[in-house]
Amino acid sequence: MLCVKNGMVVDGISAVPYKADILIDKGKVIDIGNGIENTADEVIDATGKWVLPGLVDAHCHLREPGFEYKEDISSGTRSAAAGGFTSVACMPNTNPVIDSAAMVNYIKSMATAKGVVKVYPIAAVTKGQKGEELTEMGELKEAGAIALSDDGRPIMNSQLMRLALQYAKGLSMLIISHCEDLSLVGDGVMNEGYMSTVLGLKGITRAAEEVMVARDIILAETLDAPIHIAHVSTRGSVELIRQAKRRGVKVTCETAPHYFSATDAWVDGYDANTKVNPPLRTDDDVEAIKQGLKDGTIDIIATDHAPHHRDDKEVEYSLAASGISGFETAFSLAYTNLVATGILSMVELVQKMSKGPADILNIDGGTIQVGNPADIIVVDLDREYTVDVSKFYSKGKNSPFHGHTLKGKVIHTIVDGRIVMKDERVIV
Ligand SMILES: [Zn+2]
Ligand SMILES: [Zn+2]
Repeated sequence: MLCVKNGMVVDGISAVPYKADILIDKGKVIDIGNGIENTADEVIDATGKWVLPGLVDAHCHLREPGFEYKEDISSGTRSAAAGGFTSVACMPNTNPVIDSAAMVNYIKSMATAKGVVKVYPIAAVTKGQKGEELTEMGELKEAGAIALSDDGRPIMNSQLMRLALQYAKGLSMLIISHCEDLSLVGDGVMNEGYMSTVLGLKGITRAAEEVMVARDIILAETLDAPIHIAHVSTRGSVELIRQAKRRGVKVTCETAPHYFSATDAWVDGYDANTKVNPPLRTDDDVEAIKQGLKDGTIDIIATDHAPHHRDDKEVEYSLAASGISGFETAFSLAYTNLVATGILSMVELVQKMSKGPADILNIDGGTIQVGNPADIIVVDLDREYTVDVSKFYSKGKNSPFHGHTLKGKVIHTIVDGRIVMKDERVIV
């Protein structure tokens, strides 16, 4: 038996934090209360720290199969554990694409063999993510795909998207949309505006995202089908989703930590680690993202963890790969920029990073409850540290936050009652 003793608990259900011990046996929480550590043979002292449900990431890229030089399920899930994630949903833009029951089973078996956190495969909407022909959604669901997405590229054909939403609705599967109109993106590489002009880089209009958000909302509304919008980055997208929710459209959405922590001003210096898709926006967009998180328009925070090899980034800005290695900074960025600044409470942060993602994906986790799997993290909210990518467990060292000082750090990670990170070191 394991006891997490004397921490301030946010359980994902109660409206207020409370001080308690949590007793764990055979992978499950068996008691929550005070002075119950007596029977435990191992004790984690969480005095002065916070105890939260393990974080749940609704959107990440583990790169296996096909891009193991960027990341694999072993390194990716260790990186996730280091960031406090106990469950992650991985996108299907691998090589081959996760577009068949066999490939879903492959991810599941690799996760069982090599993973240290729970891995939930998301399968493709179209075969090969080519945007031409729908996948066999029923078979994908049966094999264990928890959602469908062509993430990495948009479904440009609106009729195909309409059919996809219709079939997915019939199967009670969620479609996660990567909103990007490629004809508006052109050969842009950063947000279009003052900074792109100053830096002489081709810009991407916010309309490239917002046109697709509007289209997907209209299609979902017409069919009364659910849709989840990935990585919301602009004020306009937040407003479109806010209005749609008021009308009762079944739309949910996520943003990623970099969209409330960094702006296009960071591209100054041409650091390719600032290149991400959608691109970093402006202060005004960051304000809108924060407001959207606060008022509930933006349901959850997902990492869009997108590790790359050095060679993919150490090239001219316009040629560099897009993406940020995000697992290991997500909690600290959210705490530093949202909680320490008074925008969200710890209870609300747990909703955005644990309970909310689990609910949207309809998977276990996101709460600490007697009888449930013991997916638990211990965080030190007073801890200030400087991000050092050389210490990342991820193979991807691509982070624009390297060298930045953040507050709030995950110290211990427990998955199914097993300690996978202890004192900030992954031990499995
Ligand atoms: Zn995407
Ligand atoms: Zn992505």
